Amino acid sequence: MIRAFQKLARNTGLTMTRCPICGVVTDKGLGPLCPACTLEMQPRTGGYCPQCGSIFGSNEDPPMQCAKCRLDPPPWDTLHFHGSYSGKLRDLILSYKFNNGFGRTRILSDMACKTFQSTSTRIPDIIIPVPLHRKRLLWRGFNQSTELARILGKTLHRPVLRDGLIRSRHTVPQTKLGFQERQRNIKDAFVANKKTVKGTVALIVDDVFTTGATLSECARTLRQAGVDGVDVLVLARAQQK
Ligand SMILES: [Zn+2]
Ligand SMILES: [Zn+2]
Repeated sequence: MIRAFQKLARNTGLTMTRCPICGVVTDKGLGPLCPACTLEMQPRTGGYCPQCGSIFGSNEDPPMQCAKCRLDPPPWDTLHFHGSYSGKLRDLILSYKFNNGFGRTRILSDMACKTFQSTSTRIPDIIIPVPLHRKRLLWRGFNQSTELARILGKTLHRPVLRDGLIRSRHTVPQTKLGFQERQRNIKDAFVANKKTVKGTVALIVDDVFTTGATLSECARTLRQAGVDGVDVLVLARAQQK
């Protein structure tokens, strides 16, 4: 009976869906993406630095701390990321950001959860999304980091603190700035909620790691507020040329 129904559903196209990346019609049973996109979106499993996410080897090499992090480590302990900010992953994140998440929230947050669960050795006490300034939030309508954090929190059964970090001032968009300008632009742009973050292991969540200036400032602010540990989770990590 169930088989007959499945056959009917297939014949009438009920199990078919459009791949949100390339638009090809695909069988829902294969997952949310078509087979070609699924293949291209495999997570990075090796050849990278687990602290800053820079890629230096092939996927088959083990993850290894890079020389830069040994000499001058970032203000967080571990960076978890799904893949490089390029190709189809970049397309998917951009379409997520500018279409109010429509149809992509589940795909990307599943990806974020799987990435975290496969690479993390500790579960955070609290999850903190990188905050947008109120003005930008009004303009864009939603904060993609909050959405990712919300679903991650449900999966890990951990609280999401939307006000763990807040923007204390408006900053100009970072897009056209280099790393040092970004660092200057973002300096002291956040305030941590000391009462709720002190003594915890915090996980900061964002969609993209571009130069790391914003995430560094978030982690630094949390350290100053007395967290015991801080990790970062992003979907994609841009690789400096
Ligand atoms: Zn596709
Ligand atoms: Zn590194």
